[in-house]
Amino acid sequence: MASIGPVIKEWYDYLNQGKMMGMKCQDCGSMEFPPVPVCDHCGSMHMEWAEIDPHGEVFAINANSTGIHPYTNEVSLSGYLRFKDGNIFIGRIDNYGVEQQDELIERIAKEGPLKAELVVGPLDEHFKYPWIHIL
Ligand SMILES: [Zn+2]
Repeated sequence: MASIGPVIKEWYDYLNQGKMMGMKCQDCGSMEFPPVPVCDHCGSMHMEWAEIDPHGEVFAINANSTGIHPYTNEVSLSGYLRFKDGNIFIGRIDNYGVEQQDELIERIAKEGPLKAELVVGPLDEHFKYPWIHIL
């Protein structure tokens, strides 16, 4: 069983190895991403590391005027990614800029949610982080 502190360190270690890991509940089977040591669905603490399916759909986007504190103050474009299991992850989009916000909103309005996947990318010079890549 994982304890609370090391989960975040291990998660960043996995990201630095290019691995997109979540924690899978050994009691009800639900996947937590980003990983947490207690299952959101059943409260179990019997969680184990498991690689996630990084594919999903972006159903909404949002420009963050404050960046990702404390890593950057840069204005960035975020997406709301729904995985196939229904979980939602909010993160930066790596292949569209803020100036393309209206274009993406129009695409979602016309085509519905956009196919996307999570990829490991740089957060700053030390850490990596999951980025949303629209396909
Ligand atoms: Zn559970």
